[in-house]
Amino acid sequence: MNAIVLFGSPGSGKGTQAKLLERCLLVPHVSTGDMLRSRGAAVGQSVVATMQSGALVSDDLVNRMVEERLSRGDATNGFILDGYPRTQAQARHLSEWLDERGIHELVIHLIVDYNIIIARLTGRRQCPVCGTLYNMVSHPPKVDELCDLEGAKLVVRDDDRESVIRERLEAYERQTRPVLDYLREAGRQVREVDGSTAAPEQIFETIRQSLNAHDCTKNGR
Ligand code: ADP
Repeated sequence: MNAIVLFGSPGSGKGTQAKLLERCLLVPHVSTGDMLRSRGAAVGQSVVATMQSGALVSDDLVNRMVEERLSRGDATNGFILDGYPRTQAQARHLSEWLDERGIHELVIHLIVDYNIIIARLTGRRQCPVCGTLYNMVSHPPKVDELCDLEGAKLVVRDDDRESVIRERLEAYERQTRPVLDYLREAGRQVREVDGSTAAPEQIFETIRQSLNAHDCTKNGR
């Protein structure tokens, strides 16, 4: 039973890699961003406003939400965390939770050049039905602006506007990047993966090999 933590800046491809890993390893993809968005107004107006500004919501809320999610039956064989932990307090909370259960944690750090991040975030579109991510430059849908899987009209996420992108990147530099050093110093396993140049499938292959996972393409997964 393993916890895989996908770590990287907004736009580094965590969501895309998490979906590929979920399909290969058959363990759930737990994205705090998706969870918060799917709860909509139920999380409260101030949380929605914080997300729309690009800042981070409270550690307490996110920690409780993740704990509840990881305690469900489908996470007993492992899980993939995407967008969590994002602060030192979250990292400490997660490590304690995992240690209490004897769960091993592997952090995959996706490293992507800053200019590529900007191009990815400004061109990003998402299917409002299934959440699949596209990029109008590097990974466009087959039919203009429509999801390949659902046929739904793709949307720009509220927080993919330029001023908000800047705030999200600043929050990453200020609060999230230092978490990597904290995890390393705490003796957690961190693997660096270059996420800049290759196609998503090639990056996934590098991650798969570093996890020593079986070759999912060979059994049709
Ligand atoms: P991205 O990584 O592309 O910025 P996410 O979908 O992961 O986007 O997150 C969207 C927003 O949700 C964040 O900007 C933040 O407001 C909130 N959020 C998600 N995960 C966390 C977290 N672990 N801690 C605090 N806020 C979070």
